[in-house]
Amino acid sequence: MLSEHFSVEELTASEVAARAGIDNTPSSEAMRNLLRLAEGLEMVRAALDNNAIHVTSGYRSLRLNQMVGGSKNSMHIEGLAADIICAAFGPPLGVCRAIATSGIPADQIIHEFSRWCHVGFAPEGHAARNELLTIANAVTGFQPGLRSV
Ligand SMILES: [Zn+2]
Repeated sequence: MLSEHFSVEELTASEVAARAGIDNTPSSEAMRNLLRLAEGLEMVRAALDNNAIHVTSGYRSLRLNQMVGGSKNSMHIEGLAADIICAAFGPPLGVCRAIATSGIPADQIIHEFSRWCHVGFAPEGHAARNELLTIANAVTGFQPGLRSV
């Protein structure tokens, strides 16, 4: 376990990687970041009234990130971001807003496609940007703020 509620397996599991036979084992640097991510997710879990969080995507190796169409500078590659859903708490937009207003030092909170919440944490030694974004589709791209789409 990386923390009380999050395991390495949960933060590195990928159906796409498994199907494509891609090794998604994190580097030692990514492993250290995953510890940081797990700590952040514990705070997120608490902000979501201690409801269980489902991580749909955490760490992605470079190859896996390319396969799933992740952005080139994705913090998933660093092991510092997770896509989460928390059905017991509410829809993704509500999850995003709850994290944004919780005071948790998140680097980025992105409401993605109305399907999940992307939450990222700053690398050690860097200040969290508390950036809030929404992406509805690839054409319109990222827009400022958390909004329904
Ligand atoms: Zn993401």
